[in-house]
Parts: sequence; structure tokens; C-alpha cells
Amino acid sequence: MGGSDVAVLTRSVYEAMIAHAQAGYPNEACGILAAKSGEEACGVFYPMRNLDESSISYFMDPKEQLGVFKRMRQEGLEMRGIFHSHVASEAYPSQKDVRLAYYPEVSYLIVSLSDRQRPVLRSYRIVEEAVSEQELRVV
Ligand SMILES: [Zn+2]
Repeated sequence: MGGSDVAVLTRSVYEAMIAHAQAGYPNEACGILAAKSGEEACGVFYPMRNLDESSISYFMDPKEQLGVFKRMRQEGLEMRGIFHSHVASEAYPSQKDVRLAYYPEVSYLIVSLSDRQRPVLRSYRIVEEAVSEQELRVV
């Protein structure tokens, strides 16, 4: 990702994200995607707690987040994506999502569970509050 218009993730990461979103339902769920430095595909997913415990917003636990950042450093991984679910709306960043998008270099992945049987996953880059959709490839 890092500047490109394609987000690439492995099938197992894709399935882990959807499972985490389903498990968190009816609240939003969130997590972090990582890849080995130099590799294109995100092969690691860290499911995170949603401190908001809300169906309309999420907030990652800063302590849990620091722990994940530390593990990524130790394992030579870099953060490539931030994931969360929308339980009743489409897979598009909300105004709050846009305002709180602090990482211009990562992908923002959103899965919509408005039809729980057919989750819709989409990926975006958000740079200075400008949203652009990325092509999403599951490999
Ligand atoms: Zn959102």
C-alpha cells in the first residue's frame, strides 16, 4: 500500500477480519493490518478491542495499540492498514472516520455488515481528509 492505489491482503487475513467483525456485532469491531517490510500483501491481522463498545463508532485502546506496535517492531512488520466495521451503514468512511484518520500512509479498510450474510469490504486512503478508494486484492 504505502502510496499505491492497491491494498493487498491474504485470504486468511480477510477471513480473520470478517470473523472479528461478526464476533463484535452489533458493535463496531476494529483491528490493525501488518505486513513484513518489503512485502506487498498484509499477512497479519491484529484484532483490537473497541473501547467505545458502540454500534456507530470505534476507539482502539491506546495501551493495546502500543503493545501491537511493539510486537510489530520485534517481528519486522509494519502497519499497513486500519480496519473497522460498520454494522448498519455502507462501507464508506464516516465524517468522524475521516477526521480521525491520522495515518496518510496506511489503508483504511471498512467492512459493512448491513447485510450480515454478505459482508462488503472496501479500502481507502485518507490524506488530509480527502478520501480515495483503493483497489482491493485478496491473494
Ligand atoms: Zn466508521
